[in-house]
Amino acid sequence: SEEMLVRSEKLSLIGQMAAGVAHEIRNPLTALKGFTQLLKSRNRTDDKHYFDIMMNELDRISLIVDEFMSLAKPQPAEFKQSRAEHIVSGVYSLLESQAIMAGVEIRLELESGLPAILCDENQIKQVIVNLVKNAIEAMPHGGSVTLSVKNMEGNRVLIAVQDTGTGIPPELLSKIGEPFLTTKEKGTGLGLMICNRIVEAHHGGMRITSGEKEGTRVEIVLPSHKI
Ligand code: ADP
Ligand code: MG
Repeated sequence: SEEMLVRSEKLSLIGQMAAGVAHEIRNPLTALKGFTQLLKSRNRTDDKHYFDIMMNELDRISLIVDEFMSLAKPQPAEFKQSRAEHIVSGVYSLLESQAIMAGVEIRLELESGLPAILCDENQIKQVIVNLVKNAIEAMPHGGSVTLSVKNMEGNRVLIAVQDTGTGIPPELLSKIGEPFLTTKEKGTGLGLMICNRIVEAHHGGMRITSGEKEGTRVEIVLPSHKI
């Protein structure tokens, strides 16, 4: 209806403004970081501690602006014929050392003879990185993450990220996907929203199953591409 149209036009205007604001914040932020680094290196007193706090907080603002920006003004996906198992192996190599430091073992379960998918590799990689980071962060005392890729009927490929972490309590699970919803001191609460947005742009679906002390499983289903 017309009312709906007006509303979505307004939303896209707000989205554009948000992207503009985020963009404008980036430049002064870069300057602030540079000068903080400079002052820290010149300073020989106990003040170094405060400069570290300033850098950490500036990094945090950067992360929020970057993540917010990618939601407010998503990059258009560039679809190419790709292999989900290659993307998942790439994420494994990228995050392996980080996982080891957190006492987490990453396991790969890749089916052979998988069909190709049509996707923007960087965006799907970003999704899996977000999910594996969440998994690692949910295991403060170590554990394992299993990354699996399977063929599914109906020309679909399943990518699953399963952890042995704390799990998500039901009252939180029903709210997942709301912006800025985080239980972490350093979280942004935007990661899963970004994942969802990217998966939707790929005509796929995302599902989270979790129980307290059971760990969490996130499943992503993407349409496969017949060669
Ligand atoms: P962030 O990681 O910045 O908090 P996300 O959108 O990635 O934001 O996740 C939102 C919240 O969902 C997290 O703060 C956490 O409480 C919960 N969550 C996400 N993934 C997991 C997981 N694998 N195990 C337990 N909790 C999770
Ligand atoms: Mg996250």
